[in-house]
This record gives sequence, structure tokens and C-alpha cells, in this order.
Amino acid sequence: MSGLSELYQEILLEHNSKPRNFKTVDDPSQTTEGYNPLCGDQITLYLKVVDGVIDDVGFQGVGCAISRASASMMTQSIKGQSVERAQSIFDAFHHMITEPEGELDYDTLGDLETLSGVNEYPTRIKCAILAWHTMKSALTGDVDQVTTE
Ligand code: ZN
Repeated sequence: MSGLSELYQEILLEHNSKPRNFKTVDDPSQTTEGYNPLCGDQITLYLKVVDGVIDDVGFQGVGCAISRASASMMTQSIKGQSVERAQSIFDAFHHMITEPEGELDYDTLGDLETLSGVNEYPTRIKCAILAWHTMKSALTGDVDQVTTE
């Protein structure tokens, strides 16, 4: 991870050791599981949507530092937001991770920019994006299980 600045590494490690919203949610509107077979990362995401707003969100699972930190930051960024806003955050994040040459939407990304260095490590992109694909599927309610493969 030498390509990541020290500050970014610190934020990642902090989220990894103390993940936000690492919990189950009572009476969730959606429970979706995500799996990244490449690394073995697993996540169960609980979303509670009330009147188009993400009232509560939590996740459980096991995985590497990047997958945990990314899931932690994802839940923090969408909690209390509208479903539409969460979709925009997903788009901005997906763009940042998969198109390193592209312009970053700093207003939408906020602290998530911390994870931008991951795009230098192709094998870790799936770790970082797992929680996000899981969240997107949970929002649309399409499938109960997501895999990065
Ligand atoms: Zn991983």
C-alpha cells in the first residue's frame, strides 16, 4: 500500500479497526449479501428505507482491511441520505475507482476520496467496491446476493 499517502492509510486503518455501523438493523427493508471470491470478502448489508430516505444501515461480515474500511465509509456516507442521493454517491465512487483518469466529483465524494488510491491496485478494486455493489442491489432490491465475479 505504499502508493497511498500516510494520511489516507491512517483513515483506512482507523475505519478498519473501528468500522462504523458494524451492526445488524432491526426490521430492515432489505438484507443483501455480497461476496468477493477473489479475496474472500463477505458482507451482509442491512438497509432500512423510510419514505425514500435511508433511515438506518448496518453491515456484518469478514474481509480484508480495504473491504471493511470501504463498507464502513459507505454506510457512513449514505446514512440519512435519500435513495437518489445514495445512487449518486455510488456513481461517483464507482467512477473514481474504475476510471482513474476521470474527474473526481469531490462534492459528492467527501472523505470517500480517501479510497481513490485503490485504483492503483487492480486486485484490490473488488475489495473496495464490494460493499458498494451490495448497497446498490439493496437499494433496487433486485437480488439478495451479489458477487464481484
Ligand atoms: Zn479484500
